[in-house]
Amino acid sequence: MDFSSLGLSLSILDAIKKAKYESPYPIQIEAIPAILKGKDILGIAPTGSGKTAAYVLPILQQLQQTEYIKTRNIPVLILVPTRELATQVEEVIKVFSNFLPRKIKTMAVFGGVSANPQMRNLFGTEVVVATPGRLLDLVDKNSISLSAVKVLVLDEADKILNLGFKEEVDEILSKLPKKRQNILFSATMEETVEELINRILHNPEKIFV
Ligand code: AMP
Repeated sequence: MDFSSLGLSLSILDAIKKAKYESPYPIQIEAIPAILKGKDILGIAPTGSGKTAAYVLPILQQLQQTEYIKTRNIPVLILVPTRELATQVEEVIKVFSNFLPRKIKTMAVFGGVSANPQMRNLFGTEVVVATPGRLLDLVDKNSISLSAVKVLVLDEADKILNLGFKEEVDEILSKLPKKRQNILFSATMEETVEELINRILHNPEKIFV
């Protein structure tokens, strides 16, 4: 299997080559075409499976194809449990984005550090990678608006819930447009995650790695 048979554009394929990825991992083979079709995704996959690129690549392709006017309305929201994962995902997006004709502005936002620099930099950001609590702070401060989100990713959803972010996640969901694409990755299928899956995913493509 080759990246070129997954429906990816020439500019994304070029970026993949420059990032020195030779062939797609199983989760990428399944997730990339489904995300490009606009389907909801349920991925049960551990860290190390290649799940980040599995959603980042098709999302970057979708963004490349749309014109973006700088606002505080973010089109893509990636929710993660920890600062470490937020930084890692931001880094993957930056690596690929740097090789693309239209650079995509991304930013990781997380608690435990001053909110001010994050607030200053958010304008014109297309992909926000956030932990739930700090995201809500920034929404409350009007630094960011979730009312135009087109794609929502919940990465490590089980960990997000296990860290006690359920209320924050519910509040974030209530601020999103109803019509959107949902992508959820989790290492496990425990009860709390199942409840979230049933609530937010519509006819998802299910991927088990
Ligand atoms: P992840 O599960 O997203 O944390 O990815 C695990 C590691 O695999 C990261 O270091 C990625 O850079 C790497 N990786 C993901 N997909 C590929 C691929 N198709 N070829 C080579 N390395 C990859």
